[in-house]
Amino acid sequence: MEVVKITPRGYCYGVVDALTLAKRLARDPAVPRPIFVLGQIVHNRHAVDDLARLGIQTLDGKSRLDLLDEVPEGASVIFTAHGVSPAVREKAKQRGLTLYDATCPDVTKTHQLIREKVSAGYHIIYVGTPNHPEPEGAMGEAPQDRVTLVSRVEDIRQLAIKADTPIAVVTQTTLSQWDTAAILEAIQMRFPHAEIYNEICLATQQRQEAAVAAAADVDLVIVVGDRRSNNSNRLVEVVTNIGGKPAFRVEDVNDLNPAWFHHVHRVGVTAGSSTPSPVTRAVIRWLEAYGGESSATGQASVEMSGQKKS
Ligand code: SF4
Repeated sequence: MEVVKITPRGYCYGVVDALTLAKRLARDPAVPRPIFVLGQIVHNRHAVDDLARLGIQTLDGKSRLDLLDEVPEGASVIFTAHGVSPAVREKAKQRGLTLYDATCPDVTKTHQLIREKVSAGYHIIYVGTPNHPEPEGAMGEAPQDRVTLVSRVEDIRQLAIKADTPIAVVTQTTLSQWDTAAILEAIQMRFPHAEIYNEICLATQQRQEAAVAAAADVDLVIVVGDRRSNNSNRLVEVVTNIGGKPAFRVEDVNDLNPAWFHHVHRVGVTAGSSTPSPVTRAVIRWLEAYGGESSATGQASVEMSGQKKS
């Protein structure tokens, strides 16, 4: 069995910057203790466990606004790459906490866009994943009655927006570009005057395109990523729905099932932009030991760094 290492894969620059900031804070004695991350720094438990070993605690399981209630007086708080709403920033400031912001510049750009469009009188249709922190933060830039979340083509029919309302459509950064295209088309059919702002980031697009291209030459693709990682789950979807090949997501080497590889001659391996490289390398080593040689495909490997938007 040949193991095809799909590139680019793994950490994007937004994730690298967030983890670099958190590790720098952990080493700096001038940073007020304790240090908390509001939500998982990236959706990967291995990355969260690494930070815990450095003394950084992760708060999770509630909205960012409610999590702030768990932070004690005088502590430091890190905002994750997913971004936070203005209400969260304001509450953290009022509580006198020391703030560190690891919001990805690509997410910040969507916040600015929503603010501008709301000021200009638009209603925002936000295309995103329910109960994910990025929509929570971005949609918080608009008053509740001026923003609506849609996640499926079927949601478009239910939208109760007057036909003459100016509409701006903004997408989450980590969606499947193919699923999103269908949703955007449905919105344009119903609201031909809607302005469309497709904000899927370059790192997400590159990983999806590489995975779909590689799917043409392999029998199966393994996606290494946490179950809560939106971009990892989208990689499985695009390989299956667009690439036409089976794909399995594994959190780490322990999830690999030998039964998947019985009639497989070539297996592709990719990883979500929140997956630490050592976790992916362990999966590749397991596959190589299971049966075979290794090769690379796509662009030069950027497993650790991703590429900035120009
Ligand atoms: S996936 Fe895209 S938006 Fe999210 S942190 Fe990475 S580069 Fe930024």
